[in-house]
Amino acid sequence: MVKALIPQKLRQLIKLRVYSGNTYHCPMCGYDSKSLYSLGHDLPILEEKEVVGSKRRDAGCHSCRSTDRDRLVFVFLKEKLQIFQNKEIKILHFAPEKALSKVLFKTGFEEYVCGDLFTEGYFYPDYVRNMNVLDIPFGENYFDLIICNHLLEHVPDDRAAMQELFRVLKPGGKAILQVPLSLNSEKTDEDFTLTNPSEKEQRFGQFDHVRIYGQDYFDRLESVGFNVEKHHLYNEYPTYGLSIDEFIIQGGK
Ligand SMILES: [Zn+2]
Repeated sequence: MVKALIPQKLRQLIKLRVYSGNTYHCPMCGYDSKSLYSLGHDLPILEEKEVVGSKRRDAGCHSCRSTDRDRLVFVFLKEKLQIFQNKEIKILHFAPEKALSKVLFKTGFEEYVCGDLFTEGYFYPDYVRNMNVLDIPFGENYFDLIICNHLLEHVPDDRAAMQELFRVLKPGGKAILQVPLSLNSEKTDEDFTLTNPSEKEQRFGQFDHVRIYGQDYFDRLESVGFNVEKHHLYNEYPTYGLSIDEFIIQGGK
């Protein structure tokens, strides 16, 4: 009841005062905090397979609500690809992460296209279009940069999706292709016959996933033509609240 009586803006200000500190610095909004809030899924399979980017962990910024995954991609785009220094680029962002997308949308790139197969009920901003990764409505060699994170594990024919992403990427372009990746499994575990959401959650870590990728994920990307590079940024930016286990998976063309 007390919560309802305090306006949301004031509650946010109080929260930011409470969590203010000097342990973490959010590179996306500039907020300095003593803690991050907890997010992710608490499932045995994610522990057992050491799945990066899905486990329960303290990773959310109290101010902009960015996650460790958002901040890793943001820092890579800013510091390594330096995309904010040349806005004359065309970007395709699939299933856009809210905090990251907000920053990219505001920047004013030549073209910033956002799409997802499911746009209704996800509280996406209006600029997110309904789009199928298996049939991207753009010509080949169109985009300089593609961001497609935590999407391929939902798509049964992931090789077709990878081919389609590769098709619309310009030669010399880069794609960021993060997925839930098992650090201790060589092979991807997938099963398209499972239909029960709770069985899928137990086996793949989320009710709508069809697989958990193993280390053969990189072979799949290479099989459609991507030149795969991995970039680990944690040691360079220890106060940004990044996951120590997660690295950027970049597919070049
Ligand atoms: Zn933040």
